[in-house]
Amino acid sequence: MPTIGRFAPSPSGRMHLGNVLCALLAFLSARRQNGQFLLRIEDLDAMRCPRSFADLILDDLRWLGLDWDGEVPYQSERASIYEQYEAILREKGLLYPCFCSRAALHAASAPHLSDGRVLYAGTCCDLTPEQVAEKRKSRAPATRVRVPDEVVQFTDEVWGEYVENLAAECGDFIVRRSDGVFAYQLAVVVDDALTGVNEVVRGADLISSTPRQIWLHRLFGFVPPRFAHLPLLCDHDGRRLSKRDEDLDLGLLRQRFTPEQVIGALACAAGLIDRPAPVAARELVSSFDWAKVPRHDLFLPNIFRE
Ligand code: GLU
Repeated sequence: MPTIGRFAPSPSGRMHLGNVLCALLAFLSARRQNGQFLLRIEDLDAMRCPRSFADLILDDLRWLGLDWDGEVPYQSERASIYEQYEAILREKGLLYPCFCSRAALHAASAPHLSDGRVLYAGTCCDLTPEQVAEKRKSRAPATRVRVPDEVVQFTDEVWGEYVENLAAECGDFIVRRSDGVFAYQLAVVVDDALTGVNEVVRGADLISSTPRQIWLHRLFGFVPPRFAHLPLLCDHDGRRLSKRDEDLDLGLLRQRFTPEQVIGALACAAGLIDRPAPVAARELVSSFDWAKVPRHDLFLPNIFRE
């Protein structure tokens, strides 16, 4: 089956180097296999993701030489499609309204997971219809999906075997927020499946989302894609880069560097080439190999540190 990869950024700001690394490796892996490379804009939260940021992402990807295939879907325009899949979950009796506030969730005695998430304590999972009606008077609920006591296992291209018990290590999770906005976990599964994506390359910060996404894929009758979660970029002090590192966003990098310099430095950090010499993305396709990508955090290339 031909490979269909994708890059699915959330346009809540300008792309930073971590996003570029992700786009680069997703592009190289798909192109190395003569596959398609899709772009999808994950702007579910339209308030935080204005179209102007999405336009900049498209422009930055073109500047970087990371060309994609086909139309670009915008998640903000696909709520009616997500609703159909929400309905499937509802028919299966897996959904329930959750009235817990963010503060209540954090204050609950539920265990905190290693990545900082809070395992949902199940406060709202067995409310009676009368209790639901009463609570609805003062608060709109989010919608949670009930997960089974089931182990999900997959082999990540970079990290190898990954195993998680959904009930013990993930807990019932939100598929639709109280303001009606669909959650990333549902939308990403529906969109990857409906566009035929069979290879997902993204940052290691999302690896803990993968078991519940695989579970949803199977529940909907889809075949889950294969996954490669990339090590994250760190600065000198071992601190992971984030969107807050505005000095490293593409707006400023484009003023200081050529696309080939940015691609060459990131390709070197990712173990794809020995020296951070300028290179065009398409020139890295033929030698791309996942075996070269290290499993530890990657250090920010020197040229970006000055
Ligand atoms: N939209 C997510 C992000 O920008 C990535 C989702 C994914 O690749 O599955 O962090």
